Amino acid sequence: MFRKRSRLVAPVTLVCALGLIGCGLFSSSRGVGSLSAAVLPASDPPADAGFQGTDPYWEQAREKAYRTVAQILAQNDRELRRGIQRSKLLHGDYRKKQIALTFDDGPHPAFTPKLLALLAKYKVKATFFVVGEMCERHPELVRAELAAGHVIANHTYHHVNLVKIPATQVAAEISACGEVVQSITGRAPHLFRPPGGDYNDRVAEVSEALGYTICLWTDDPGDYANPPAAKLAADTRRWARNGGIILLHDGPPVTLKILPKLITDLRRRGFEFVTIDQMLGYAPTARTASRPAHGSR
Ligand SMILES: [Zn+2]
Repeated sequence: MFRKRSRLVAPVTLVCALGLIGCGLFSSSRGVGSLSAAVLPASDPPADAGFQGTDPYWEQAREKAYRTVAQILAQNDRELRRGIQRSKLLHGDYRKKQIALTFDDGPHPAFTPKLLALLAKYKVKATFFVVGEMCERHPELVRAELAAGHVIANHTYHHVNLVKIPATQVAAEISACGEVVQSITGRAPHLFRPPGGDYNDRVAEVSEALGYTICLWTDDPGDYANPPAAKLAADTRRWARNGGIILLHDGPPVTLKILPKLITDLRRRGFEFVTIDQMLGYAPTARTASRPAHGSR
């Protein structure tokens, strides 16, 4: 399925994230793919340095921290001051009482079916930022997400911090996930979320060149850290606002625990749950079914 992997990600063991690793849900890692020495920039480590999962260069690519909302906004301000306007979504329309629930890092056989059942019970459509290698392992879960009316979006193939890997691998990480999703669903994703929310000019330019809109968030209640349910629920409710994009994960039991009441409470406050596509007014077309298209802002 992932024919490009051997070509784009070939002879150095790349220690990368196992689905949820960047979000601290899992502590293990696994070697994946490899990287041709020929494509490494001069400043990158030598290809024969013996990357066995403990090399500090690759270890640092396993993002364990999230960009805060303040950091995301500050980065956006710096871009605007430089006259740069990215294809990027920070929030929805402040005039609309809409909230988008987003679930990162799946699919996972132990969690995704439960999450889908819950969302179906409460008639909520969400957006799943999936990890390519997890999709390859569990394509039936990706199909189930799509069949239930959720949006499938790109969260890289290996869930690695894109600002900490060789430049040549950034496009491979994004493209590979997109190809896997398209092969499973027949639709090319047009939304992309960098792991940890971490991106730089290079990552943004590659993402845009591949036809993606970067989607960040307005609220990170920190479910990946498995906080007490009452705290997670209170934090999420407190920050709910018009046009909100809430960062959650496809995995933490505490997330499943708080969702029913959270959904009920926010609906009672008048919020409507939408997908990121609905937030953008985006509808798949015949063109996007065959190749990525640029998302609207
Ligand atoms: Zn993630």
